[in-house]
Amino acid sequence: MPSHVITLPNGITMPTLGQGTWFMGESSLAKKDEVAALQRGIDLGMTLIDTAEMYASGGAEKVTGEAIAGRRDKVFLVSKVLPGNASRRGTIAAFERSLKRMNTDYIDLYLLHWRGGYGLDETFEAMERLLADGKIRAYGVSNFDLDDMQEAAQYDNGNICVNQVLYNLASRGIEWDLMPWMKQRNIAVMAYSPLYQTRLLKSPGLKRVAQELSITPAQLALAWLLHQGTVPIPKTSSVKRVEENRKAWDIELDAQVLAELDGIFPPPDHKMPLDVL
Ligand code: NAP
Repeated sequence: MPSHVITLPNGITMPTLGQGTWFMGESSLAKKDEVAALQRGIDLGMTLIDTAEMYASGGAEKVTGEAIAGRRDKVFLVSKVLPGNASRRGTIAAFERSLKRMNTDYIDLYLLHWRGGYGLDETFEAMERLLADGKIRAYGVSNFDLDDMQEAAQYDNGNICVNQVLYNLASRGIEWDLMPWMKQRNIAVMAYSPLYQTRLLKSPGLKRVAQELSITPAQLALAWLLHQGTVPIPKTSSVKRVEENRKAWDIELDAQVLAELDGIFPPPDHKMPLDVL
């Protein structure tokens, strides 16, 4: 069975299946369901919650704050600084605002959401400060292609633990060069939009294989990402679907199924630019 935790380059452990929060916190009517879904996921062991200051302009962090109230010690909290805030001082100020919205005093993993105008040296200096002050347990990046990772490696003291990128069966470009490079350094691939925002679930091929295995297309898509050694973070505001997604941890895919999936969703045979949403 897929492992429930991985160890990051700095020695801390992180759950291998998490929960996304993009589009949460946008409507007060949906909030109750969003909090209930996140809490059910935490209770089922999906204790990694991925959020960002960007989502609903802080609204998703507020929903996250409600969901983790009283269970902070169980949760591996991930948030992200917007590139426009990612200066030496701006990063710290954005981080402090995120803490307030989530009513906590630390974030487990803090990411630069994507590359912007500020130098990576500035952003990582701030990240190193947060690390030294015990306010974060690890830091990383998001939407970084191989050339960005290579540049980042000049400034991070070997401390980048995660790169969160678009990765799912229908978008496998990173397998060509980015993933092997990261694997060599033990940097985790956090797979965002693991269901391709439901687009993947409509694939007749995925549906057929899932049916053969008596599982749902979402479970197959997530089980495949776990098999790849990545950390998928599906978003759902439904308790029923979070329960469905959790079962991906119990699914073992054999060589025949993996080959069938490769036939439907071929791996890359050349360098492809990093896919983003
Ligand atoms: P996703 O997780 O691939 O798909 C989310 C959609 O799938 C929602 O519409 C959800 O609807 C539906 N869904 C979830 N489980 C399902 C199931 N079992 N069966 C059917 N439908 C299901 O897409 P995502 O939200 O873009 O990506 C996941 C997370 O990654 C985000 O929430 C965010 O935290 C992160 N992310 C990061 C970046 C970045 O730049 N770093 C970019 C995109 C996303 P319901 O809610 O109605 O269930």
